[in-house]
Amino acid sequence: MPGNLLFATCPCGFEGSAQVGMTDMDDDFRQEDLVAAYDPEKDAIISIDKHVAAARCLTVYPDPYIYGNSEFACPKCGKSTLYVDVLGHWD
Ligand SMILES: [Zn+2]
Repeated sequence: MPGNLLFATCPCGFEGSAQVGMTDMDDDFRQEDLVAAYDPEKDAIISIDKHVAAARCLTVYPDPYIYGNSEFACPKCGKSTLYVDVLGHWD
């Protein structure tokens, strides 16, 4: 299943990228629904299953390919100037 590669950037210098979308089923027929989220422990934007992200109460950035481009609160400077865009696709 293909997905999108998201790229987030802020004028303060913070940036990150993550792959989002459904993964292929593994041998146990499990599939991950990957979303882009900010992980405060790593101080980075990561690719993570949305259920895990919800369980950890992480800030999730919706896929601009589906929801349109928007700006979000930047984890570094706190301003609403973190721009999330689609950089490309993967499969
Ligand atoms: Zn910033």
